[in-house]
Amino acid sequence: MPELHQTLWNLESEDLGALVELALDLRNCWNHSTDPLWNKIDPELWALTHNPWVVLQTSSRTRLESLRDDPEFRDQLKERLERQRRTLKSPAWFQRAHGSPQLNCVAYFSMEFGLSEALPIYSGGLGNVAGDQLKAASDLGVPLVAVGLLYSQGYFRQIIDADGSQRASYPYNDPGQIPVTPVRDKDGEWLRLSVILPGQKLWLRAWQVQVGRLRLYLLDSNDPANAPVYRGITSELYGGGPELRLTQELVLGIGGWRLLRALGIKPDVCHLNEGHAAFAVLERARSFMDDNGQSFEIALAISRAGNLFTTHTPVEAGFDRFAPALITRFLSRYAEDRLHLDLPRLLALGRLHPDRQDEPFNMAYLAIRGSGAINAVSRLHGAVSRRIFQPLFPSWPELEVPVGHVTNGVHTPTWDSAAADALWTQTCGRERWRGTMETVGDDIRRAPDSALWELRAKHRLELVRFVRERLASEFATRGGDPKTAESIFDPDTLTLGFARRFATYKRPNLLLYDPQRLVSILTNPQRPVQLVMAGKAHPQDIAGQALVKAWVDFVQRIDVRRHAVFLSDYDLVLAERLVQGADLWINTPRRPWEACGTSGMKVLVNGGLNLSELDGWWAEAYSPQVGWALGDGKEHGDDPGWDAAEAEELYDTLEKKVIPAFYNRGNNGIATEWVARMRESMSRLTPLFSANRAVREYTEKYYLPAAAAYRERASDQGAYGGSLLQWKQELAEHWASLKFGELRVESCPQKHSLRVEVHLGELRADWVRVQLYADPLDAEPPFLSEMTHGDSAEPSAGWRIYAADVPASRPASDYTPRIVPSHSGVSIPLEDAHILWRR
Ligand SMILES: *Cc1c(COP(=O)(O)O)cnc(C)c1O
Repeated sequence: MPELHQTLWNLESEDLGALVELALDLRNCWNHSTDPLWNKIDPELWALTHNPWVVLQTSSRTRLESLRDDPEFRDQLKERLERQRRTLKSPAWFQRAHGSPQLNCVAYFSMEFGLSEALPIYSGGLGNVAGDQLKAASDLGVPLVAVGLLYSQGYFRQIIDADGSQRASYPYNDPGQIPVTPVRDKDGEWLRLSVILPGQKLWLRAWQVQVGRLRLYLLDSNDPANAPVYRGITSELYGGGPELRLTQELVLGIGGWRLLRALGIKPDVCHLNEGHAAFAVLERARSFMDDNGQSFEIALAISRAGNLFTTHTPVEAGFDRFAPALITRFLSRYAEDRLHLDLPRLLALGRLHPDRQDEPFNMAYLAIRGSGAINAVSRLHGAVSRRIFQPLFPSWPELEVPVGHVTNGVHTPTWDSAAADALWTQTCGRERWRGTMETVGDDIRRAPDSALWELRAKHRLELVRFVRERLASEFATRGGDPKTAESIFDPDTLTLGFARRFATYKRPNLLLYDPQRLVSILTNPQRPVQLVMAGKAHPQDIAGQALVKAWVDFVQRIDVRRHAVFLSDYDLVLAERLVQGADLWINTPRRPWEACGTSGMKVLVNGGLNLSELDGWWAEAYSPQVGWALGDGKEHGDDPGWDAAEAEELYDTLEKKVIPAFYNRGNNGIATEWVARMRESMSRLTPLFSANRAVREYTEKYYLPAAAAYRERASDQGAYGGSLLQWKQELAEHWASLKFGELRVESCPQKHSLRVEVHLGELRADWVRVQLYADPLDAEPPFLSEMTHGDSAEPSAGWRIYAADVPASRPASDYTPRIVPSHSGVSIPLEDAHILWRR
């Protein structure tokens, strides 16, 4: 049973202890079997917060004691607890498919986690990806611990003023009201640890959150022992300036790794969710130095094999960069005392040009230099990331820049409605989201048209009710008349949803490009449309806030107000209602600036359809059978002419395709064409764009190989690292003396035989490979063939002949010999980017 820090809550009863255990496990936000318990304790508070921990904390002792004496409640509680414990202990996908010895533990580091509104420590998509992956890892039994920060204020909350402007508010996260408990050491003391900041020690307090089978550890700096300037380091997420961000990242990376050490957790894999967490790479290497008496360089060469870096941004400007002076101030002592590394060598890890004194320190570069693998978050984002990181791999073809991809997915059980859950359970069984989902797509296909169409009607009606209730209270707060909310929306009208962060690249104003045209679409008397908008703009993003205001003003027009609404303070609770209720989800980013996008995936399980720019996940998910696409699949930057053209296309698609598909009904009143798309979308896309699929892919493509690679490198206290480093040094020293000599080609109708002279000089032949390369044709990967050397016919000392036969389907001049580094188990060009072409 989780320990309690609340002395207030010292009921010595086993039964009520069970309530604490259930309330503190965030599994309750996707497994709804305990809902009736919370509802019974305090129906009003439960309806308002849907936060079991708050319900439990707030209810009186008398109320709880009376429930303890209620046999029905007690039996229910006991049954739920036993069921939960049984489920969490039983072997899951990972245990069945892989067994634990191959992977001891993955440490997942992230600046934000969007798990539940009960724990508001996220801002948007990045946190949501982390939260959903944690939940899926719990379902699948993947051995993972997560590390993050406990923000006392989190991300700002949005208030819309009477004049339609966004105002930021920062409510306080009372640790007694959020489902976290202190981490205690062996002696029951609250675990505290420290990191050194300029001038003094920073004490960090450690908290834990139970997420099904897994644990999330959170650090916070609000320790009374800290100087006032440092106590607020973990107050706001994405607030303040560079110094605050740097200290937060030091706490996350260095403090986070120390916390795992203090707990005796020894991860073989460290997953950096975005570059924010990259300092973990340094502290992991430092632990290895301490344990094995090795230098920093050797420790990093070994430990990086166990690190995975996931990049989430498609623009250079998205990476965190710090001024060299700031890094110097905060890290020189750490570098010298702990890493035994002079500062320039540390700075070089975050620079493209190590010797440029004024080049800032880029966290993504540190993550790359400290990892054994890198991945992007959609196929298109993979290509974009290879372009962005190309300068780190000079002379390498862009296609070979070592960035793979795992397309994000959403945690289906979190986002489905009760009605959708019932339909999927009926067609696909209870366990459908916890295995490999092979049959799920075909099973849901069997759901009859009527069931799908009824599901939509039910969802729409619920959303209409929700919107009215919510607006009534928003109007009242703003001094308006709550009664006006009653006539808003209609349960039979096609309902569009758009909700996300209001960043300019997401073009939340594209729908509003021609307001009159939008009005005529919304208010068409025969085929009306209604629209729900929501989204927050960062408090420093003035342009984003102007877009919020433009929408708030628009929805107040007399002719629009019944057909379009802007709901304030977009958060997980609101997102859940919208993705369940919307018939159509709209997304209009500028390609390729939406790395993946996840909100559109959340509608899939609920039978919602997507109309989206061909960007991020939609570029790989779209086909005409599952929804509608916007754009030509090309990049146009922020060209205003292109925005105009796409706005036109958006209106046309709505008028000519979407609206007819919704309103053309068969004899039975069912929109046959719409339902056909729902069926295809649910069947093909739901399993594919789930966090279940993403986590299995991470496990098999990255975690298992990284664990094996790390174990192999670490097996002999670092001797392997020494040989690796020696190899790298020799390459660096002698690369310049590598030379190509003459190339001879003999061709016959089937093949070309190429022989090339290579001067290896001082380099051992097995430390490099000689390859033939040909540019890719169409969408294929590039052609690569190893050239081999014989011992004979060496023209003179240091020279060798390398030869290969290649297909004559392409001209011999397409094939170019090149020399690249080679070392078994080492990722090239990630770990050594030398290359020599015979031009
Ligand atoms: C899913 C989600 C997001 C991410 O949405 P995108 O469309 O991918 O930007 C952001 N915020 C909240 C609250 C969400 O639930």
